Amino acid sequence: MTQRPAIVLVRGDITEQRADAIVNAANTSLLGGGGVDGAIHRAGGPEILAACRALRASHYGKGLPTGQAVATTAGKLAADHVIHTPGPVWSREHDRGELLASCYRESLRVAMELGARTVAFPAISTGIYGWPMDDAARIAVRAVRKSAAPPVTEVRFVLFDEYAYEEFAAALRATT
Ligand code: ADP
Repeated sequence: MTQRPAIVLVRGDITEQRADAIVNAANTSLLGGGGVDGAIHRAGGPEILAACRALRASHYGKGLPTGQAVATTAGKLAADHVIHTPGPVWSREHDRGELLASCYRESLRVAMELGARTVAFPAISTGIYGWPMDDAARIAVRAVRKSAAPPVTEVRFVLFDEYAYEEFAAALRATT
């Protein structure tokens, strides 16, 4: 029987993680932004932005749709790949949970295609995009449990602060 990939929580800065693939909470332009996106581009250097620009020119003239994922070099980061996925902006009126789940599912699909074994995720959409942490954590944990498979052996959620860490820990306990 194959082992289910481990889900690991750490507090910290995703740009300092060593992993085969690091996921970026990007925006549809793929051309950088604030939060995790800005941090990844700053730490990874201009190679990542150059690869994003090339992807825009070759495949995504209008940008990468929300919920999809695409990989580039990780530049100077301690990873082989950065996987960019634009999360949905949280809305009280519209349930965009399926799009948020899709970010995790599609990022993992790309990671598995690349042969990644360790994949680090931030808490997508919980910063500038305003998603409540408890709900985002439930969606993230559920989507990862459903989709992570070999060659992935470890999915790591990298949580920036104690509050995010606690909400992800609660979501993990609730779904085991
Ligand atoms: P989004 O636009 O998808 O909401 P953000 O980058 O604004 O993305 O924030 C997503 C989450 O990542 C937030 O919870 C934020 O606190 C956290 N975060 C911001 N910088 C980092 C970082 N360097 N490493 C890990 N998490 C981060």
